[in-house]
Amino acid sequence: MSAASLVAHVTQQFIDHADELTALDQAIGDGDHGINMRRGALAIQARAADVADMPLPAALKTVGMLCIATIGGASGPVFGTLLMTLAKELPDTPTAPDLARALHAAIAAITRLGKAEVGQKTLLDVLAPVQQLLAAGGDDLLARTRQCAIDSANATAHLDALRGRAAFLGERAMGHVDPGARSVALAITAICDTLAAHESAHDRAHDSAYDSAHEISPEPSA
Ligand code: ADP
Ligand code: MG
Repeated sequence: MSAASLVAHVTQQFIDHADELTALDQAIGDGDHGINMRRGALAIQARAADVADMPLPAALKTVGMLCIATIGGASGPVFGTLLMTLAKELPDTPTAPDLARALHAAIAAITRLGKAEVGQKTLLDVLAPVQQLLAAGGDDLLARTRQCAIDSANATAHLDALRGRAAFLGERAMGHVDPGARSVALAITAICDTLAAHESAHDRAHDSAYDSAHEISPEPSA
């Protein structure tokens, strides 16, 4: 599994969903979130060849710095802090407990940076439940993480905005999904789908290697 295919899939989500993210930010912010994320995604794709051969932590650090330099708004530094903290905390081939620990550190770093807390209608309201799910572990983690991200983003519609531009709207933000939360859900969906496709390709390769080994050297007949 290379960082390159994860980066390619996540950035493509932001490009494909730019209009949707803009519409969400038009409802409760200043309408630039889709444009911001698309600009960041295109800048990251332009550096895809450099990132392709890096170990995961170095790739995350490079992409995080590009987020800060290119996304802009409140979300650029937030996404940058997220990725650069993951870069610092994760090993080259992370397990679910590694991810849970690193996300815990990233949530703390984002809170220090932007002073928002979980429950205040920001992207933290997707990161926190996903972190808890990964920390708890169990079966079907990829499928459950994917669903948790989507459900948690949708659930931000029912939260009061206390931070970011949506806070100025007060109760008028009620009923609207937070754009940054939706962005994090798109990224997590793309990561889970990429990992699931990689796992099933790996399983198929394993099965066909097993089949051909048995064709080549059949059991000797009695
Ligand atoms: P801006 O708000 O500057 O226009 P964007 O529209 O790109 O920036 O991003 C808005 C998103 O950034 C919000 O939907 C929210 O999820 C996230 N956000 C804003 N402020 C904070 C904060 N202090 N902590 C965490 N996330 C934040
Ligand atoms: Mg905005």
